[in-house]
Amino acid sequence: MQRAILHVDMDAFYASVEQRDDPSLRGRPVAVGGASRRSVVAAASYEARKFGVRSAMPMVRALALCKGLVVVPPDLKRYAAVSEQVFAIFESFTPEVEGLSLDEAFLDVTHSQELFGTPRAIGETIQRRVRDELSLSCAVGISEVKFAAKIASDVKKPGGLTEIPFGAVRDFIAAMPVARLSGVGPKTGEQLARMRLKTIGDIARANRGELTRALGQAGPWLHDLANGVDAREVQPDRAARSLGAEETFEEDLIEREDLLPILHDQSQHVAARLRRAGLRARTVTLKIKFSNFEQATRQATLSEPCDDGAALFRNAAALLDALAPTRPIRLTGVYASGFDRPAAQRSLFEREDEKRTRLNRSLDQINARFGEGALVPADLLARKKR
Ligand SMILES: [Mg+2]
Repeated sequence: MQRAILHVDMDAFYASVEQRDDPSLRGRPVAVGGASRRSVVAAASYEARKFGVRSAMPMVRALALCKGLVVVPPDLKRYAAVSEQVFAIFESFTPEVEGLSLDEAFLDVTHSQELFGTPRAIGETIQRRVRDELSLSCAVGISEVKFAAKIASDVKKPGGLTEIPFGAVRDFIAAMPVARLSGVGPKTGEQLARMRLKTIGDIARANRGELTRALGQAGPWLHDLANGVDAREVQPDRAARSLGAEETFEEDLIEREDLLPILHDQSQHVAARLRRAGLRARTVTLKIKFSNFEQATRQATLSEPCDDGAALFRNAAALLDALAPTRPIRLTGVYASGFDRPAAQRSLFEREDEKRTRLNRSLDQINARFGEGALVPADLLARKKR
């Protein structure tokens, strides 16, 4: 059977959840993020994007671009809860779901077709259910390989569905700029430009040996992708040995107050994936890449296995403080490992009860640690005012 992979990407996820839940925000340019001068945009509504507002952009710049911009503080716990509903829809079509973030996943639907129809029919049904059940929208890309499915989902945003016919990946991407390939950042882009390789098709036709000499390991990798070759399987979270979230920033960061919201976001994302996979982790790892590409990792062992975003964040924040970085940082990542499945004999009710106790305790600890008006309580306090 021909392999079929969907990449589903929620449209402006955080901003769309805010607009859905607060009708006064609908139709208005919305940026989710902190209100302080140092904050960055976590998500922008499509109305804000028309003004050039983008995620990861400094909020000060976003406000300068768009005078009427409504800044909404992030409520990551709510986004994580909506994300679980979204993923529950995905998982009703296939167990092979690999979450890339709270709002984005690969689905291998190769073996779902007998039950649910063609990949396109599955994609359309997912879009309809996300709209009918959650009042949100998503874009879908379909291909026989992962990277091309991800490229396809970006072709018609918001709300589109793009299917690359089987065997046609190479032609489909040939005219696209090289930056569309995963792994091509500014540095690699410059090298490719020096080799006069502008489009993905240029890379496909380039000499593999020359690419390898110029780019090292990235050479054959990009040559494969450009030719439509990507052997990577969809990796469901339940089969993973570690789950993580990491992000390279648009601008290097150094201040603790800039890094904490990002660690918070990453911790909530990892926790949501743990819960979906029915896993709890014993180990939290903080990964940091400095602007000179040096890397540091720090690990903490938890007193009990956990799947709670606030607890992961508390540990990641403590690891950051212990590391006390003094150089600019270009990437942070939060990883959970050392998995433990919840004891099967305990009832769902008992587990929910424990989860709530744990959540409350973590919030208390964060309150004690950062005080009122600090990052996490600020998210929650702002929400209460509604
Ligand atoms: Mg998205």
